[in-house]
Amino acid sequence: MKRNIILIFGAHPDDIEIGMGGFIADNKDSEIIMCDLTLGEMGSNGNIEIREKEALKSQSVLNVKERINLSMADRNIIVDKKNIEIVSNVIRKYKPKIVFAPYPKDYHPDHENCSKLVREAIHLSGLIKFKSNYEKHRPDSFIYYYINDIENQNFYYNISEVIEKKIEALSCHESQFGNDGKSVKTYLNNDFIDKIVTRDKYYGNKCGVNYCETFHKVGAILVNNIWEI
Ligand SMILES: [Zn+2]
Repeated sequence: MKRNIILIFGAHPDDIEIGMGGFIADNKDSEIIMCDLTLGEMGSNGNIEIREKEALKSQSVLNVKERINLSMADRNIIVDKKNIEIVSNVIRKYKPKIVFAPYPKDYHPDHENCSKLVREAIHLSGLIKFKSNYEKHRPDSFIYYYINDIENQNFYYNISEVIEKKIEALSCHESQFGNDGKSVKTYLNNDFIDKIVTRDKYYGNKCGVNYCETFHKVGAILVNNIWEI
């Protein structure tokens, strides 16, 4: 039987929590794998060691089974054959039913390249003529989450019950979102968590609940039961 594995990619160690920390907290009984492409070494604050610790702390808050890092170069995520194959092999190894990646249009070029890389890798992973150590695999669904810019979303996920967990997970990334007085001033340490919560509240309000994260599923969305929409 196919396991219900969800594989989520992010460019930097805090991307996944920003876009879908609530979704993860709400699905703590699912088998979720978080995969960061870089260690975020180019961030204005923090360093590799600090960011690694923060990512693991957040993983534990979200009760996620496994978090891996592909150690690609921060600010230099290249969509080339080598990297597409690396990501394809991660997909083939875990055989997820659902893959998430950042939406392809975002203020940060690394987020866009992460998105493109995962899209390419999903395609390659399903090709029989791509030979690697793992068997071919094509996930059932590919879904985009949003980091900075939001457009063209096609569903909303209710995170009202778990908003505090999302805040707790985001707060683990203290080097990015905290300000100890010595930090370099960035848009991230200027009430960023509060802005994300406000954004989630805005989308919750659209759906008549307190907080929602929003997503874009690639391809058609099938409805079997009209009472569920
Ligand atoms: Zn990022």
